[in-house]
Amino acid sequence: MSDLLPVHLVANRVSFPLNEAVHSWLVPLLDSYYEADKGICEAINRQLSRGRELACAKGCSSCCKTHKDIPVYPVELVGMTWYVTEKVTGEKRSRLKEQLANHNNIDGCPFLLAGECSIHPLRPLACRHFNVFDKQCAEGEDAYHTRRQDVLTPIKKYKEKALLITLPFYGDYKKSEQKKLVETGAINKLARPLKDCHWESLPEKMTTFDDRQ
Ligand code: SF4
Ligand code: SF4
Repeated sequence: MSDLLPVHLVANRVSFPLNEAVHSWLVPLLDSYYEADKGICEAINRQLSRGRELACAKGCSSCCKTHKDIPVYPVELVGMTWYVTEKVTGEKRSRLKEQLANHNNIDGCPFLLAGECSIHPLRPLACRHFNVFDKQCAEGEDAYHTRRQDVLTPIKKYKEKALLITLPFYGDYKKSEQKKLVETGAINKLARPLKDCHWESLPEKMTTFDDRQ
């Protein structure tokens, strides 16, 4: 009987204790991702218990090439920049440097390397929230438009809390203002498309970091 039960997903908080002690923005950012991941796991588990199968899996990545308007909030930009500069190592690092320098000429997300997200622990909320059931996306397919019923709908309370947690990064808002910013969607005005960010400046930052080691 237990063999027939679907896998139950559980979220884990990504943790970088030494860096979190140094960078004040990193703790709420990782807390925010944890909150989002809890909601995503709960929403996925509900679908699994109804007999659906999660199509997303390691190595499946056509969404990272197809989606052109992935929103990234400023604190996420800081997190992605930090992760690439300080945490990506080895061959992945050299390949990523080349790819970022040339990102305006590549199709898809500049962080996609050999079918995998090179910044997976720090990937933005939008990437975390996009999950598809039952059938993997075809090359070029955006399942949100072709089969909305197979795309996970994130649970609102987790999604909103994940955003609320990051708000102190943007200003000293009162509780009531914070709630309004999230509930009205005004916070979304802070986000910009991932493809439009100036990733070409990152390789230099990475080299400066390497020279200091
Ligand atoms: S969203 Fe589609 S392409 Fe992306 S991992 Fe899931 S099934 Fe694969
Ligand atoms: S950040 Fe990672 S998960 Fe998001 S689109 Fe890029 S490669 Fe894919």
